Amino acid sequence: MDPNASDEAIERVAQEIRNMGAQTHLSRGKFRTVIGAVGEEAVLDQSHLASLDGVEKVVPIMKPYKLASREFHEDDSVVEVGGGSVPKVKIGARHAVVIAGPCTIENKDMLTTIARHVREGGATILRGGAFKPRTSPYSFQGHGEEALKWFRDCGDSLGMPICTEVMDTRQVDLIVRYTDMFQIGARNMQNFDLLREVGKTNKPVLLKRGLAATVKDWLLSAEYVLSQGNRGVVLCERGIKTFEDSIRFSLDITSIPVARQLSHLPIIVDPSHAAGKRDYVPSLALAGMAAGAHGVIVEVHHRPAEAQCDGPQALLPETFKELVGQLRLIATITRKEFSEIGELANA
Ligand code: PEP
Ligand code: MN
Repeated sequence: MDPNASDEAIERVAQEIRNMGAQTHLSRGKFRTVIGAVGEEAVLDQSHLASLDGVEKVVPIMKPYKLASREFHEDDSVVEVGGGSVPKVKIGARHAVVIAGPCTIENKDMLTTIARHVREGGATILRGGAFKPRTSPYSFQGHGEEALKWFRDCGDSLGMPICTEVMDTRQVDLIVRYTDMFQIGARNMQNFDLLREVGKTNKPVLLKRGLAATVKDWLLSAEYVLSQGNRGVVLCERGIKTFEDSIRFSLDITSIPVARQLSHLPIIVDPSHAAGKRDYVPSLALAGMAAGAHGVIVEVHHRPAEAQCDGPQALLPETFKELVGQLRLIATITRKEFSEIGELANA
């Protein structure tokens, strides 16, 4: 729309698009409003739309993903996590974030200890799995709803939003009651029903890149969530399968500038699952940040040898704290700022 288009003109155009049988998605930028018309090309009468009051131009978005594309939304999106019982944390544009915690929620005490450590080290969102996607069906699968209860209490008492994985459409109704952010794991990036289901909720979604997914596949998965009306998608690069076998996955640093060019969505890196070994985690985290990521998600454990899952890649609390200090230095170069939360009143 023309930068001076009135609200009535915008609504009129949106109504005409809906009358043609397409869906509308509004994107209000600093300068102009873009009305995304999603539907079959044949139903959209472009020259009619171009003639309407307030319309600057009608541009077909050639990319297969539409709402995820930069064409639809020129500025970086900012996704808010939390609110309600915990503070809101922003991710995207100049807002960077550190999400940290254990791989899996083993028990209440362990969770609380690690959560306090990562809070003290500079994390503003907690991670932890209640339902775990394990390669073997005989590995520990997570404590389910009980873990969600511990996690919610922990986030509330520390004043931190929480992020946890949802593996199946049947878990969405349960998890949405506890979490501030859904995590879609790498192995579920193309579980399209699940993407649609979380897309119908109002909680933001951390979308891990699939083990063998291209950036285009990944953005199409984001599109599934966006198309259901949920605008809160944060991409997460966590490494892909390559022939290299000295590490678990190869962190594809290149995908960060690529995804940022193609899309307005925030993107963070997960160095823990890429490395599979704690020695490599800090370097990968710093590299991701330097490449333009809006933060990191890292696994931390105070007793990694006793961890039920992913112990070898968990950072010790001291190393984590040191890493956050280094990440802050890189953030000044890439003109981002990490969110901070105040001291804990009763710490
Ligand atoms: C996790 O975050 O613990 C996890 C299983 O990650 P991914 O889906 O990236 O393997
Ligand atoms: Mn893990």
